[in-house]
Amino acid sequence: MKKRIAIFGSTGSIGTQALEVISSNEDKFEVEILTAHSNEKLLIEQARKYKPNAVVIVNEKKYTTVKDELAGTDVKVFAGEASLEEVAAFDTYDMMLAAIVGFAGLKSTLKCIASGKPVALANKETLVVAGDIVMQKAVKKRVPVIPVDSEHSAIFQCLLGETRNKIEKIILTASGGPFLGRKPNFLVNVKKEHALQHPNWTMGAKISVDSATLMNKGLEMIEARWLFNLQPEQIEVIVHPESIIHSMVQFEDGSIKAQMGPPDMKLPIQYALAFPQRIPNDFPRYDFTRSDGLHFEKPDIKTFRNLALAIQALQKGGNVPCVLNAANEIAVYGFLHNRIGFLDMMEIVERAMDKIPFIEKPTLEEYFESDAAARNFAASLIHI
Ligand code: NAD
Ligand code: MG
Repeated sequence: MKKRIAIFGSTGSIGTQALEVISSNEDKFEVEILTAHSNEKLLIEQARKYKPNAVVIVNEKKYTTVKDELAGTDVKVFAGEASLEEVAAFDTYDMMLAAIVGFAGLKSTLKCIASGKPVALANKETLVVAGDIVMQKAVKKRVPVIPVDSEHSAIFQCLLGETRNKIEKIILTASGGPFLGRKPNFLVNVKKEHALQHPNWTMGAKISVDSATLMNKGLEMIEARWLFNLQPEQIEVIVHPESIIHSMVQFEDGSIKAQMGPPDMKLPIQYALAFPQRIPNDFPRYDFTRSDGLHFEKPDIKTFRNLALAIQALQKGGNVPCVLNAANEIAVYGFLHNRIGFLDMMEIVERAMDKIPFIEKPTLEEYFESDAAARNFAASLIHI
């Protein structure tokens, strides 16, 4: 029996790489659902190639084009934001790959969990915003949440066979991004073209900017807290510019397990889709004899204040990570549209965290309200 995969966010960096993995393993996987925000051309092309049961184009203006282009095929076409939840409730798929970027991925992932379907989770913002609720629902429904994020996939792999052993701490590795070693006098002038050039990974625009500000690592600390049920002080970040060690777990006896490999997102994607199986592939292999060494240093959280702010949010808990995430999404949007500078992003996040009232144990509704309030406030700061 082939595993039927629903890819939410199929036109993005993770989505397209997942389709490559599926193409190379047609005996194991088939595509059941594809969704995109507005790239109708690519969605149509993917639908013709992979013949899913259904596609969603979120941008309703593109509906007619998608519908017309797929007329004569068996593909059902849906449009609009609400359709994401509608198709997430289908019982015709076996696993969701949650690869939508940002808060926009939360509702469909919750619907998938409510329907009892396993999730391969790339969309880290889902856990940053409402990790307590998402994981509680998953545990209650006995739904596996398998991380796709390379660091979390590494930790997940290191923890296999260790259920009875306590974790002393986890060590999340960070490449440091394109501005490693830079100081504010340099960063004040950088433009999106520089920020989008990541040294080791090719990714979507939002996560590339987050990697450049180190917000990505902060979001990943919060993601790890919920995925692995850790206390904030058990999560450490270390800069490792080569991105060969994807993360590590240190146990109570001081022993450290690391998961390693060349930086290629297809590996954690394939691992999550096929779990618990490992499938052979022809991805590049790491050669230790050709290595120039693996290097490690402390992150510079004074310069890259977003990481310090995320640590604060992690420690405070409640709705603070949700506020941090919402303000950051607006700030990154502003930076990508040349409305604000690189350092302004951190300022906006900090001001939103100061402004939005603290809620210690938010309901899902209160998370949505905090998200909206932080977004509105951040947008008012940059006039969008
Ligand atoms: P991307 O921007 O390349 O793709 C995003 C996808 O989401 C696209 O298919 C887009 O159509 C869809 N989308 C965007 N806004 C939407 C909205 N409002 N409603 C519905 N759909 C929407 O992003 P990406 O780099 O593929 O990242 C996806 C997620 O995976 C992010 O949460 C990111 O943090 C995480 N992730 C990505 C990488 C990577 O290497 N790209 C690595 C680890 C984690
Ligand atoms: Mg990552």
